Amino acid sequence: MRRSFFGGVNPAPYKESTRRKPIARLEYAPEQVVLPLAMSSEGDSVPAVKPGDRVAVGQPVAAGVDLAVSTHASISGRVLAIEERPHPWGGRSAAIVIENDGQDTPWDGRPQPLDSTRVTLDLLLARVREAGIAGMGGAAYPTAEKLRRAAGKADTLIINAAECEPYVTADHRLLLERSDKILLGAQTIARAIGAQRAVLVTEGDKLNAAEAVERRLRKRSGKVELCTVRTRYPLGAEKQIIQTVTGREVPPGGAPLDVKCVVLNLATVFAIQDALFRGRALTHRAVTVTGGAVARPRNLWVPIGTPLSCLLQSAGGLRETPCLVLTGGPMMGTPQHNLEAPVIKSTNALVCLTALERRQQSQETVCIRCGKCVTSCPMHLAPSFISRALRLNELHRLPKLHPQDCIECGCCSYICPARIPLLERVRQARELLEKGGLD
Ligand code: SF4
Ligand code: SF4
Repeated sequence: MRRSFFGGVNPAPYKESTRRKPIARLEYAPEQVVLPLAMSSEGDSVPAVKPGDRVAVGQPVAAGVDLAVSTHASISGRVLAIEERPHPWGGRSAAIVIENDGQDTPWDGRPQPLDSTRVTLDLLLARVREAGIAGMGGAAYPTAEKLRRAAGKADTLIINAAECEPYVTADHRLLLERSDKILLGAQTIARAIGAQRAVLVTEGDKLNAAEAVERRLRKRSGKVELCTVRTRYPLGAEKQIIQTVTGREVPPGGAPLDVKCVVLNLATVFAIQDALFRGRALTHRAVTVTGGAVARPRNLWVPIGTPLSCLLQSAGGLRETPCLVLTGGPMMGTPQHNLEAPVIKSTNALVCLTALERRQQSQETVCIRCGKCVTSCPMHLAPSFISRALRLNELHRLPKLHPQDCIECGCCSYICPARIPLLERVRQARELLEKGGLD
């Protein structure tokens, strides 16, 4: 099945330097890992260990309370401290610091692998909760809660392997190298939550991975559909992907379940099958380390909590001073100012851009009314109108311009020839509306 969608932009992909590089283990193991208590969007976990305790790989070190997800040791060693450390979302936050003993001793309390034909909804939710899985595509929403809400309500499970952000290839490699496990995971999840369809969506620039999936599907009597879409940013955003696959439109302010869909990122599905069929907690993930400033760009299999500086070391270090360092891609990623911040469950890439790569921000000029921001907006917003309303202080116009529907894809800022920071303006407008005071 091949589909396309409207809106969006075509930024240069910059994926060539890593798309053919298999996921490799770190050459330099971290001396310590830093596990922030804040790793999901729904609150912090609570420490279950104290300084001086010995821990093994996969052992729970922080418990998830309410919706927050639990955290597990990703190396074996000794708990050094529980203290504030730099966090990749910004600032500092409480974290469990573990000193590496270099042994990688597995935890002997690991749950038994399950038989795929016997995975019930209760077993699925329990295992996902126990493994501490949160959305690994960036949103970091607790996966057990997402699946609990979807059970019996979603008729379509979408596995998002679009990875439309420039530079990032970690999911592409995971799909290429682990397609069998991902398909088994998708099929099992769909059956347990009662979804009639499971659709794996990938972009046309990942043909080798799509072919690998097709080969597997032929062998396993096709319970999962493959949908290859035209490469376009931001196809990977939930609402766009749902519309592309099902033709259903998530209403403004609504959620995928409003149109009977649940979307899981590919890496999340891989983590779920690891928890179900190998009894493994979420302790490692694939991360792309790339950008023109990196000496040897590559894809790495990384213990969660590894400092970003350690990833760079395993990628040959920096060949020039980067102009901008981000976790995630250049369109929606988070700028990093301290390379001692660790990889967390939602970190899919470390991108170090040179001044040349980072489109030199020339001076903002006046809007020439070209309309490109409007045609590129996948949410059918009018960023130029929102920006104008702010500039002229015509705040009464904002509610009708729906800035709250912005998915922060950055297409408008990217495409604007006048270099107007439209995404920032739309965010500003949304904050004004959220604070109230406007009808
Ligand atoms: S207004 Fe928001 S959703 Fe629309 S293009 Fe700009 S950043 Fe993307
Ligand atoms: S893309 Fe920029 S210049 Fe063109 S209409 Fe939008 S704000 Fe104006």
